[in-house]
This record gives sequence, C-alpha cells and structure tokens, in this order.
Amino acid sequence: MAEIIVIGHRNPDTDSIITAIAYAFLKNKIDNKNNYIAARCGEINNETKAVLKKASLNEPMLIENISGKKVILIDHNEFTQACDGIEKAEILEVIDHHKINFSYPLPIYYHAEPIGATSTIIAKIFFEKNIKIEKNIALALLAAILSDTVVFKSSTTTNEDREIAKKLAEIAEVKDIEAFGIEIKREKTSLLGKSIEEIILGDFKEYKFAKGKVGIGQIEIVDFKEVEELKKEIINGMEKIKNSENFDLVLLMATNILLGDTQLLCVGKIEKAEEAFNLKAKENCIYLKNVMSRKKDIVPKIEKVFS
Ligand code: MN
Ligand code: MN
Repeated sequence: MAEIIVIGHRNPDTDSIITAIAYAFLKNKIDNKNNYIAARCGEINNETKAVLKKASLNEPMLIENISGKKVILIDHNEFTQACDGIEKAEILEVIDHHKINFSYPLPIYYHAEPIGATSTIIAKIFFEKNIKIEKNIALALLAAILSDTVVFKSSTTTNEDREIAKKLAEIAEVKDIEAFGIEIKREKTSLLGKSIEEIILGDFKEYKFAKGKVGIGQIEIVDFKEVEELKKEIINGMEKIKNSENFDLVLLMATNILLGDTQLLCVGKIEKAEEAFNLKAKENCIYLKNVMSRKKDIVPKIEKVFS
C-alpha cells in the first residue's frame, strides 16, 4: 500500500487545508490500494482553526519536505507556492482553480476549473461519484468556499460556487449561508485580542514623498462597529506614531471586505487627505466607497498632494 500525500500551498488558507482533508477522505473511500494522507506545509491561521473546531476535524499532518514522496497537489500548481522538495516529488494529480503555470514530464490527472474555490471542485467530485459527504465535511467545505470567495463577494465567484454551497448547507444544516460566512471571515479579521499598536502597525507602510512623509496602515474587518468601538484609542495611537516618527500624515485604512468600502482614519495634515479624495473628514474619518486597495486607490492620490 503506497502512501500518497494530499497537500495544498505554503501559508495554507482554509481552502487548502479543508480540501486536503476532504480529498484524502474521498480517495480513501474509492481506492483501497493506497493510503491517502492529508497534509499541510505551514501553520494554520485563526480562521482555519475555527473552521476545524466547528467541524470537529483534526489538523492535517505538517510536512516540511515532500522530496521523493507521491503527492496530490490541491489549491495550487506553481512550484514556487508548493512545499519544499516538490522538484523531486512524484506528482500524481493536481486539483486547482488558479492560473496554470505547470509542466510535468508524465501524463497526470489535472483538474482545473475557473471557479471560486477548490472546495467547490472537491464537493462536485463527491456529488458526481455519489459518495456521501459527512455532515462535518460538508460544513468545512462550505466554510472554505465562503472563505475563498469572501462570502461570494470576490470577483472569482461563479454560480456553481453558490449552487454547491447551497447543497453543502443543506447537508450541514446551515440555514443562513451568508451569516455563516460572515462568522467565518470574522475569525480572521477580528480586532479582538490585538493591541492598538498591532492594529495600526500590523500592516503599515511608510512613504517618503517630495513634500512629506506619510504612513499608511491597513486592517480588514467585516463590521465597522469593531473600529468604532476602538476609534479613540486608535487615533491616540496614530498621534503618538506621527509625533515619534515625524510623519506629516498617518492613515489607517479600515477596509470592510464585505462591503468593499474603506473607513480612512487620518491623523496629522488631515487637509491633505481631504484634498486627495475631495471629501471632508468627520472626526478624523473619511468614508471611501468602493475602495479596498492601498496600492491602487490610496497611495497615488496621496502622493499627488505631497508632490
Ligand atoms: Mn488557497
Ligand atoms: Mn483556493
């Protein structure tokens, strides 16, 4: 009996972890000549931990190097995203939903679809092969679809993702799919337990423009209330950073990933931010509709008013 490793990409997300578990389970059902083992190459994030707990599933085995092993790659195909030792692994299958950048000297089973999550593909295979999906696996696959598609908000979402999610929700007895999705995303984005400094500086970039030094941080949230509750402390923290590091302007993007909007917190030369977006700040805040990207939406406009 050969041992076959089912493994997702580095820095695994919920889709990579759950599909490893679900696909190893499915393969063990239909192939009793081999032993399929769910694996991961990297630590599990908070969102995924919560999903595993909800579904009473164990973490896949941690593998540092897959050299010389028989493997099935899921949720990725590029070697740069794969576990160490991939060049010397024997690849048996690839199941993925990303751009294909893959070549292999042997014919293999390669299943790619342009849809929102690898979990959708895996669920489809269960349905096509008429293999019963256990309630907890259905719950985990549903959570992974909602995670990868940002509760169907991502532009990669297809009708098939929605349909498969509905079928899984029935099995898992989840009544309100969107509410369940928000609950999942909240695990990752929650500000709870983070210090004010972590909130501001966790993803902070410094820019030296011709006429000023600007710092721009970003947090992702699913509910603006979270920021509202901490606003005073965050603004105070931003003031401190501005003064100690001599910034002309310090910004914190609180991006609501479900709405696709950003609440921009500003400290320092607020009038520059107002000028950049042609909007008035209210209590250190500018609300920016349809703004999610620091690189695309914020930096060019700020640079313009500081040059
Ligand atoms: Mn992924
Ligand atoms: Mn994915």
